[in-house]
Amino acid sequence: MSKAWLSLGANIGDPPAQLAEAVRRIAAHQDITVVSQSAVLTTKPWGKTDQPDFANMAIAIETRLQPLELLDIVLGIERDMGRVRDEVWGPRLIDIDIIAYDRLEVKSPRLTLPHPHAHERSFVLDPLRQIDESVATWITSR
Ligand code: AMP
Repeated sequence: MSKAWLSLGANIGDPPAQLAEAVRRIAAHQDITVVSQSAVLTTKPWGKTDQPDFANMAIAIETRLQPLELLDIVLGIERDMGRVRDEVWGPRLIDIDIIAYDRLEVKSPRLTLPHPHAHERSFVLDPLRQIDESVATWITSR
């Protein structure tokens, strides 16, 4: 079994409801167990600032899926939930990122672990600290 930490964000529609729905879909996967969840935090948009506030949270999971299999699952959930993929850093129904997978360090065309921007984003780190201080420290001290 591996442990992984996911960051979820949404800022259009009903963001807290979309986060809850995404967690429900992740937890429904037969090879994933959700072991902890942060609170939902409201944060100001990052990058492109003229858009609604975000709701963000982090979850920890246990899984037998390999990292790229897990990526395909979360991208599928994003797609199924109707994410509009047109603008970088723009409004989104749901965004799910893999923040870390065990203490694996990977740089491949489809997947970078830990997530390349996690260490500089408080909307990722704050919820992550709520559920796992040690992985948050590992990400910021690399
Ligand atoms: P975005 O929708 O802006 O979060 O970007 C999604 C794309 O980033 C995916 O198609 C992935 O191939 C790529 N990616 C690279 N590293 C990660 C990661 N750690 N978590 C999620 N997506 C990643």
